[in-house]
Amino acid sequence: MIVMEHVDKWYGEFKALTDINLAVRAGEKIVLCGPSGSGKSTLIRCINHLEIYQKGAIRVEGITLGSDPGTIDAVRREVGMVFQNFNLFPHLTVLENCTLAPMRSLRMSKAKAEATARRLLDRVKILEQAEKYPAQLSGGQQQRVAIARALCMGPKVMLFDEPTSALDPEMVKEVLDTMVALAEEGMTMICVTHEMGFARQVADRVIFMASGEIVEEAPPEVFFSNPSHERTKKFLGEIL
Ligand code: ATP
Ligand code: MG
Repeated sequence: MIVMEHVDKWYGEFKALTDINLAVRAGEKIVLCGPSGSGKSTLIRCINHLEIYQKGAIRVEGITLGSDPGTIDAVRREVGMVFQNFNLFPHLTVLENCTLAPMRSLRMSKAKAEATARRLLDRVKILEQAEKYPAQLSGGQQQRVAIARALCMGPKVMLFDEPTSALDPEMVKEVLDTMVALAEEGMTMICVTHEMGFARQVADRVIFMASGEIVEEAPPEVFFSNPSHERTKKFLGEIL
């Protein structure tokens, strides 16, 4: 469960988020879309304190995100994040990428961390690459490793920031299929993506942002066929 209440965020003089109110229930899938610069990344990065915000409140799994390191660590344990550019550690093997955080942050034994990692690498269909380094994998494979790595921490929520937009077209599907499978298993997800097929298939709600504000939110069947706001119509006209 994620709750954002009246969140405002500035980068210096520039206001990047204005009065963001959002509640995501356990198991809910949200797709967040909107033009470049509308604040999508900023919004999801605030949820695990990769960005600080100046006003309002954010709670994740009942933990109120404050500035003290204890609450930040507690929230980050519940929230997995997948980025556009994979962000794998290049000098570590796939398996080591997956075991590092569980061993360091959760104090998991190496044997247990490796067993967990192998199970999750198998789930994203990449177990046979476990001993390779990221540079030896395709983009789609790297992104599936990034998803497995996040899952190794046992998160309650997964945040995705345009996970397929850096991929060659033929690799988009394998990553989306992985995300669909995760959704079907009941994971709570917020996905920044312009993959509208994915949105139609898995989203409970599609949220459209513009200029740092939530402009419109609706179930996909309403969002795509009958958007209310002019800005949403214009955006959909450009991307569909
Ligand atoms: P995109 O679709 O291009 O990823 P976005 O919706 O994710 O865009 P954000 O990255 O959240 O947009 O950025 C929102 C606004 O905040 C933009 O105008 C951006 O220029 C500005 N911004 C983002 N990061 C910073 C920063 N570190 N310092 C100053 N301004 C920033
Ligand atoms: Mg972004």
